[in-house]
Amino acid sequence: MKITDIKTHMMRVPLTRPLHISLGVITHAVSCLVEVETDEGIIGYGEGSPGPLITGENLEGTVETVRVLREKLMGTDPRDIEAVYTVMNRAVAYAATAKAALDIACHDILGKSSGMPLYKLLGGLTNTIETDITVGIAAPESMAERAREHVKAGFNVIKTKVGTDIESDLARVKAIREAVGDDVKIRLDANQGWHGKEAVELLKRLNEYDIELVEQPVPRYDFEGLKYVTAHSSVPVMADESCWDSRDALKLVSERAVDFINIKLMKCGGLYEAKKIVNIAEAAGVECMLGCMAEESGIAVNAAAALGAALKNITRADLDASFGLSELPYEGGFTVADTRKLVLPDAAGLGISGLKEEMLG
Ligand code: MG
Repeated sequence: MKITDIKTHMMRVPLTRPLHISLGVITHAVSCLVEVETDEGIIGYGEGSPGPLITGENLEGTVETVRVLREKLMGTDPRDIEAVYTVMNRAVAYAATAKAALDIACHDILGKSSGMPLYKLLGGLTNTIETDITVGIAAPESMAERAREHVKAGFNVIKTKVGTDIESDLARVKAIREAVGDDVKIRLDANQGWHGKEAVELLKRLNEYDIELVEQPVPRYDFEGLKYVTAHSSVPVMADESCWDSRDALKLVSERAVDFINIKLMKCGGLYEAKKIVNIAEAAGVECMLGCMAEESGIAVNAAAALGAALKNITRADLDASFGLSELPYEGGFTVADTRKLVLPDAAGLGISGLKEEMLG
């Protein structure tokens, strides 16, 4: 089997509600969707969503990088994932978003050509994964109201964005805990908004609200700060922006700098690298969460959900991006049961049957 063409489509769809995080505001799903075509008529679908506030990449750059990689990948067998990744890494350094799009599409083809759904191909532990739901930064009372609506709808884990200042963050978490009661898990995401000692002091005060974990309390480059918070806080710490790829994961777990790792396909460049992170973390006794960019359309969420369901060391999921879209740009993929459970299809590959042309640029 050979790659005969790679098509790119730009997608920009407004979110039903803008998401405020400590780094800025996200108003649209912004994504590069790819179709990898083969000489056997199989088409693989993929997605690269740059998430500029997190990755520093942008849509135009992602599309252009996919075009550069297209020239190098023409004629390659897309099922040879190691070969595909070797070609991509020799052609372009970094550029995780473009590589993720192509990696996802090649895994889709691998599944389709072998007649297996992706979750089975990747490990097959189960075919479902439960996601949390994210509440963006706002006034405490409106965050509490949003959390209450989500719990009423059926979610049982609320991921709350924080990371502005101590008193406001305290008021937010207090209001949410009072609104949702004691049976709902609350996890925090500071998106690099605090500093070491400040984070430890705040987490000590937040502990009375029964916090499951906190994501990325300090800036991504502050490795010592992250290690300090992990060592001094009773709330478990999860690396997000501090863990890009397997090399970051190795350093984080071997120096005991975190308790958990949040993996995103857009940070690490796809399923190929994500599996390495999971394996390194598992060897160190560190559980992983599968996350997504808020700007994703759902195609990449399908790939992440398949990996999350397939592997037992992925114990948590923050895969709620497609819930924020009024319409999805594709047909097929996972279905949702009981509000929070993503159920992967038994169709081969991602189980995505096509793109909605009218939604693509
Ligand atoms: Mg995060």
